[in-house]
Amino acid sequence: MDLLKDVKYIKGVGPNRVKLLNKLGIFTLKDLITYYPRTYEDRSISKNICECVDGEETTIEGIAYSRVSEVRLPRKTMQKLIIRDETMTAMITWFNQPYLKTKFEQGKRYRFYGKISNKYGKIEMVSPVFDEAGKTQNTGRIVPIYPLTYQLSQNTLRKIMENAIMEVKGNLKELLPEEILKKNNLCGINEAIVSIHFPKDLGDYKKARTRLVFEELLSTQLALLVLKNNYLTEEDGIEFDRNVKISDVINQFPFKLTKAQLRVLEEIESDMERKRPMNRLLQGDVGSGKTAVAMCAAYKAVKSGYQAAVMAPTAILATQHLENFNNILQKLDIKCELLISGITKKKKTELLERLKNGDIDILIGTHALIEENVEFKNLGLVVTDEQHRFGVKQRTRIAEKGDNPDILVMSATPIPRTLALILYGDLDISIIDELPPNRKKIETFAVSKKLEERVNGFIQKQIEEGRQAYIVCPLVEENEEMDLQSVINLCEKYKKDIFPQYRVEYIHGKMRPKEKDEIMLAFKEHKIDILISTTVIEVGVDVPNANIMVIEDAQRFGLAQLHQLRGRVGRGEYQSYCILKYEGKSDTVRKRMKVMCDTNDGFIISEKDLELRGSGDFFGTMQHGLPEFKIANLFEDMPVLKQVQKVAQKIVIEDPKLEKNIQLKSLVDDKFNKRIEI
Ligand code: ADP
Ligand code: MG
Repeated sequence: MDLLKDVKYIKGVGPNRVKLLNKLGIFTLKDLITYYPRTYEDRSISKNICECVDGEETTIEGIAYSRVSEVRLPRKTMQKLIIRDETMTAMITWFNQPYLKTKFEQGKRYRFYGKISNKYGKIEMVSPVFDEAGKTQNTGRIVPIYPLTYQLSQNTLRKIMENAIMEVKGNLKELLPEEILKKNNLCGINEAIVSIHFPKDLGDYKKARTRLVFEELLSTQLALLVLKNNYLTEEDGIEFDRNVKISDVINQFPFKLTKAQLRVLEEIESDMERKRPMNRLLQGDVGSGKTAVAMCAAYKAVKSGYQAAVMAPTAILATQHLENFNNILQKLDIKCELLISGITKKKKTELLERLKNGDIDILIGTHALIEENVEFKNLGLVVTDEQHRFGVKQRTRIAEKGDNPDILVMSATPIPRTLALILYGDLDISIIDELPPNRKKIETFAVSKKLEERVNGFIQKQIEEGRQAYIVCPLVEENEEMDLQSVINLCEKYKKDIFPQYRVEYIHGKMRPKEKDEIMLAFKEHKIDILISTTVIEVGVDVPNANIMVIEDAQRFGLAQLHQLRGRVGRGEYQSYCILKYEGKSDTVRKRMKVMCDTNDGFIISEKDLELRGSGDFFGTMQHGLPEFKIANLFEDMPVLKQVQKVAQKIVIEDPKLEKNIQLKSLVDDKFNKRIEI
């Protein structure tokens, strides 16, 4: 059986429907059967008509008591049928369906599923789907509901799906080894595919779903681990000079590195001195000092005779990195330059020329580094500072500018190990789990909105002492226009009503990059006292004088994101404060606020966030770039993920490139061929 055959060969799929299916991303039989339901409707149990409640959707069953009659209304016709069960009668109506007149036989039993209306004790059902009693096309069972556009109806897709399932049932090849199925108590693929679309009951559905989730997570995890093993052995990288000592640059810092920084540096240095290319993730909370670590690695690369590239998510951040790098490395005779999209053409041409000549040692910049015309003389190290994930592909693209350079990925979002393994499974992981000493803990308070005036009084006191404040707007859903409006409104409120005596400005993601940079700079230079902002400040410049972070409607943010925002303060010598204004009395809201007040440790926060949400947008802004799963959900399926990771690791230890597990290899190859952004 050919799973890759065009959907047009499936029974029930004509030329029109092919187009509609294509729009949903369904091109092959395989795409079709892995187009999973969004939810289900249980139409398996019929209710007595007398028990029906106004407004509910339900199944009823009864004998056709009349023929279908037709009533002409202005611009439409209505078809009416009276049915009767053991308890009472009900009126069924449809609009503009004249063919129904001959569909029903008086005295025969039918089953209907639709919405009930109870008009003064008379039960009616409008435009239901139906079957002859005993048949289960549209009723009498659990029915899948697919994520669809309006052009394709649920009924149509369901019929097509049924035909497809008939075709594949019993013929699907099992790609998971028997042993894994048994040990993890998973059902076979044939059973799983049938039951995910047409489950007999809840248990049936759960069993099918678990099996499919397991397979999906396993193939992703294996793909990443195999990718890592390929880097490990196949390609020869650079052996950086053992005689270049990172300690020489460490001595230049105005502070002593923490134990954690030293430990990860040791890991990095030993990677760099080895022949195989480094592919390492450096995880560490905001402020844990990742930049210093990156600088040491870059130093080693440069003094070994290579160039380094540092890629940051925003121009502001890249600029800040450049400053930091220059502060330390200039003294050591290392040339750093900045490449961002804002620079003039002339300057850029000159810069690119010098880069190619090897006159620039370290190039720091944004995505602009990936552009084709950026050519290095001998790129040896790539550092990406990822506030958001750049994804495997982008990482590879910049790496291609060198000859198997070493790669260091820095992530400021502390994530639990389980998730790190599936998001960054192709990388080795180093963790900075310690903040530099003498950091003042950011005092965090969660306050109900009713206490607004006291909060404002507190802000005023700090500003009078010469400090500055950030105020973060409520998160407006996925709509930048509305978002912008809410920033402007809030700014007006603070500027006019609350703090007319201070300099209040706002910043927003939709502003032009130049405008944004100007505002940030003005804030840094203390030409602004209070900065009203959306979450764009998450990746901002350091403003050591700002010591207050107020977050409006904090309950709407993910904990990981609140933590990230809070990291904007506490960067200077002053005691800093984070004030979470929240609404809502739910237990979860209160628990979440408490977590924020109790700890400043990003790893603990991200664990708790997972626990308290179960699902949803744990990653906040990090969502962007997550692998797309068809059925798995990293949050709800955490237990399965853990199981999968054990299994995957065991497989890869015994068979690093899946040469002995041909079927699993085909699962993994499929992941790569589909160009899924893992
Ligand atoms: P992040 O991990 O968030 O990128 P940074 O590298 O920006 O953190 O460091 C935050 C601040 O801490 C910087 O001002 C940096 O100079 C300082 N810093 C880094 N390491 C140390 C240390 N070991 N001791 C004291 N200050 C440090
Ligand atoms: Mg950083």
